[in-house]
Amino acid sequence: MIDLHTHSRASDGACTPAELVNLAAARGVTLLALADHDTTAGLEEAAAACRAHGIRFVPSVEISASWEHKTLHVLGLGIDSGNTALQTGLTQLRARRDSRAKEIGRRLEARGIAGAGNGARELAAGAPVSRLHFARYLVDHGHARDLQRAFRKFLKRGKPGHVPVIWASLEEAVGWIHAAGGQAVLAHPLRYDLNRSKLLKVLEAFKAAGGDGIEVVCGRGTKEEHLAALEHAVRFGFSGSLGSDFHAPAPYLQPGVDESLVSNLPPVWQRLRA
Ligand code: AMP
Ligand code: MN
Ligand code: MN
Ligand code: MN
Repeated sequence: MIDLHTHSRASDGACTPAELVNLAAARGVTLLALADHDTTAGLEEAAAACRAHGIRFVPSVEISASWEHKTLHVLGLGIDSGNTALQTGLTQLRARRDSRAKEIGRRLEARGIAGAGNGARELAAGAPVSRLHFARYLVDHGHARDLQRAFRKFLKRGKPGHVPVIWASLEEAVGWIHAAGGQAVLAHPLRYDLNRSKLLKVLEAFKAAGGDGIEVVCGRGTKEEHLAALEHAVRFGFSGSLGSDFHAPAPYLQPGVDESLVSNLPPVWQRLRA
């Protein structure tokens, strides 16, 4: 079992890095990447836990990027987290997250949702604030029935708590990842709500920016989505990656993905440094 996309409390996951590694070990994962949003703060703890379990660890990050006002996520797999270019870039992104969180809080509070700003910040507990922290606050305080609805009602484009941000360009994200010795992988390509021709443009732009691979299997994706992503990877000459995008324990989503789902492609993990 391989999982090259998971989250911990260092960003918007619910588990500590060590708890995440325990769950992955129980699932039989032998190759694991922790890829928190715009931060590498959880990597040291995860690496130590992986050593204790005999799991091969892939230090990673999920970088927020923007392309033509669309937000895209670029995974940096197998990065050297000590790299200065990477850390300087991530620091900028976290600053943008921080100002966005303040503005989301103000806008939700103006809509009568008291304490949203501080509430989300408390849930983040020192981690960069994610919209998922706001969604959890909204659910906890009875403003939405579940996370999905919290996003739909408050946080998505066109909703009161939506604050657009210009994240890293694709060239910046790929550049920082390559500077840190990693592989740049476009996360969940079929989850961006793009029609086919727009998605092909995104893949072309990612390729032109130096992108190495795309996620062929991700989390809750369907068989049709896996096949479509596989086809895109072959067309553009991308290597294939796979991951659960695990955020919190749930019966339908545990860390670990069956690697046989990625066939016929150069697997991205063969290109990772030892
Ligand atoms: P951010 O990077 O702060 O804009 O937040 C994006 C995060 O919110 C993603 O990484 C997911 O963890 C989560 N997310 C986005 N859309 C949804 C949704 N519809 N339901 C649940 N979680 C979501
Ligand atoms: Mn997330
Ligand atoms: Mn993502
Ligand atoms: Mn993710």
